[in-house]
Amino acid sequence: MDLFYNELKKFGKVKTNEPMSKYATYKIGGPAKYFVEVTEMQNFVDLLKFLDGEGQEYFVLGGGSNILVSDEGYDGVVIKVKVCEMKVEGNLLTASSGCATVDLARKSMEFGLTGFEWGVGIPGTIGGAVRGNAGAMGGEIKDSVKEVEIYQDGEVVIVSNEECGFGYRDSRFKISNEVVLKVVLELEKGETKEAMKQAIKNIQQRNLTQPQGFPSSGCTFKNYEIKEEEKEELKKSGVPQEFLDKNLIPVGWLVESLGIKGLKSGNAQISEKHCNFIINLGGATASDILILIEKIKAGVYDKYSINIEEEIKII
Ligand SMILES: Cc1cc2nc3c(=O)[nH]c(=O)nc-3n(C[C@H](O)[C@H](O)[C@H](O)COP(=O)(O)OP(=O)(O)OC[C@H]3O[C@@H](n4cnc5c(N)ncnc54)[C@H](O)[C@@H]3O)c2cc1C
Repeated sequence: MDLFYNELKKFGKVKTNEPMSKYATYKIGGPAKYFVEVTEMQNFVDLLKFLDGEGQEYFVLGGGSNILVSDEGYDGVVIKVKVCEMKVEGNLLTASSGCATVDLARKSMEFGLTGFEWGVGIPGTIGGAVRGNAGAMGGEIKDSVKEVEIYQDGEVVIVSNEECGFGYRDSRFKISNEVVLKVVLELEKGETKEAMKQAIKNIQQRNLTQPQGFPSSGCTFKNYEIKEEEKEELKKSGVPQEFLDKNLIPVGWLVESLGIKGLKSGNAQISEKHCNFIINLGGATASDILILIEKIKAGVYDKYSINIEEEIKII
């Protein structure tokens, strides 16, 4: 093994040519040249500093539930974040970025805290959830974040909710190369029983509306945020008034209106149950998925003259 490999071993368990399909909920993706699992916060930060110092490209991997890795793989270092410590103090829930969002939502309810029940349905880690301002059933992580500890250019700094630049499935972490290390959520005191009831309802609702039994990365695209000047044309193109009033068009509706529900490319398919999901029927490649992504984008543009944007991170 090379010198670089030996250096990486100081920070965690290292693998080479590790198939990313093992770590992505899509079960798709070629090999990562180097794959390092970090379980301690100090090692995580030291590794980021080391890689920055070396000018080495890296990718921070949480639960792999919002990514599509190419069939060729990743020619750099993948850092698999397995650092997870959580604590509850009063109405504050603090967690390191490798904690599963589902576990935190459960923990919050156990401690009689409410406001994060929707998190029980979100795969992946809290680090990934903060980066993408994950949300469901009317809740978003931005509603509960008090502050976030981040790695920024060799330093560990704390940023407040307002400084995170949260928007619909968006945050400053999507455009910066900052890494989420720790999150503090501020929740409300409430009734454990009531919160659990709500959580069960959320899960039942998801099971009804989302495809079950096939690997996916959740919604492929962000729902489309309508600009004021587009409203008239979109109305003429048949976009229902309820979406125009909310300034948001569900991509599932857009795709269905193109008549391509259920369309297949190789072993990938636009879900018949929820048209914003592209599912892996078994053995799909990243290329199969990308072909459907391009078909959807082109179809939506041709019919509505709008550009929809991927929610999943393509690597
Ligand atoms: C079946 C299914 C249903 C889903 N439903 C929803 C839903 O209802 N609502 C919703 O919002 N999402 C949903 N998702 C998408 C996904 O679960 C969320 O986006 C999740 O928060 C991603 O977290 P992750 O840890 O898996 O991120 P990953 O997929 O590992 O990574 C996604 C991106 O985040 C970055 N990242 C990960 N960790 C960090 C970190 N610590 N610091 C900085 N960047 C980081 C990665 O580099 C990558 O760019 C769903 C996914 C699936 C598979």
